[in-house]
Amino acid sequence: MSFANDPPQPPEYPTATTVEDFARNLAAVQARIAAAAERAGRTADDVRLLPVSKTVSEDRLRNAIAAGYHQLGENKVQEAKRKSENLRDLDVTWSVIGHLQTNKARDVVSFAAEFQALDSLRVAEALDRRLQAAGRGLDVFVQVNTSAEESKYGLSPDELPAFLDALPRFTALRVQGLMTLALFSSDLDLVRACFVRLRTLRDQAREQNADLIGPGHLSMGMSGDYEAAIEEGATCVRVGQALFGSRQARYDEQHYWPSVQ
Ligand SMILES: *Cc1c(COP(=O)(O)O)cnc(C)c1O
Repeated sequence: MSFANDPPQPPEYPTATTVEDFARNLAAVQARIAAAAERAGRTADDVRLLPVSKTVSEDRLRNAIAAGYHQLGENKVQEAKRKSENLRDLDVTWSVIGHLQTNKARDVVSFAAEFQALDSLRVAEALDRRLQAAGRGLDVFVQVNTSAEESKYGLSPDELPAFLDALPRFTALRVQGLMTLALFSSDLDLVRACFVRLRTLRDQAREQNADLIGPGHLSMGMSGDYEAAIEEGATCVRVGQALFGSRQARYDEQHYWPSVQ
């Protein structure tokens, strides 16, 4: 018997270190992406793979980049900024995919190509002000809490329409679509329901005013559930452990349930 809030048993992902390890893992994940896309009547080109490199050392990242990982997602701004500075000589762009505090907006603007966890107008305002000053724009995804877990970040689904209505005044933010973290559960039906919810919200937003949601991308799916996410319409999957190797469970607990810290 499994309960909705039972953490899934994490599969053991071997730690990738060499360029060959990273190339092999990339090929394996890409093959699964292509198969899932095909099952959904789409092609692999419709799905962007964003490798998530949190906790991975810069030495290992050099090999990952050499193996073809040219976009990296990080959930903590300080860690991402440090890595971006130390790997500045390499061909890689950075996505911030975790909750942001307004006092870190300046840091994000200094190095990130994308921000996937926009969930408040205060953060939108702080980013826009810094971006205007820097004379640049930023791709953003609006994070929605599709699992109704209080401890997760993201707007509740009923807050989304008014939030999207308010974003156009922040002209440096280029809305790309919606992002979610599904329920952390071994019950794939419950996980899948989160993905369906995000797709439905995107479709409703398009119906109401397609201009407000940009290309309407759906960033959903991680190592344990990206194939289901693709079957439900994901156009960006954020995959860490399946590419880099298992992280310590304790780290994820602290991230997904920040109140545990
Ligand atoms: C860590 C993280 C992921 C990737 O999770 P994995 O289990 O490593 O695939 C995806 N999205 C967010 C927001 C994350 O913090």
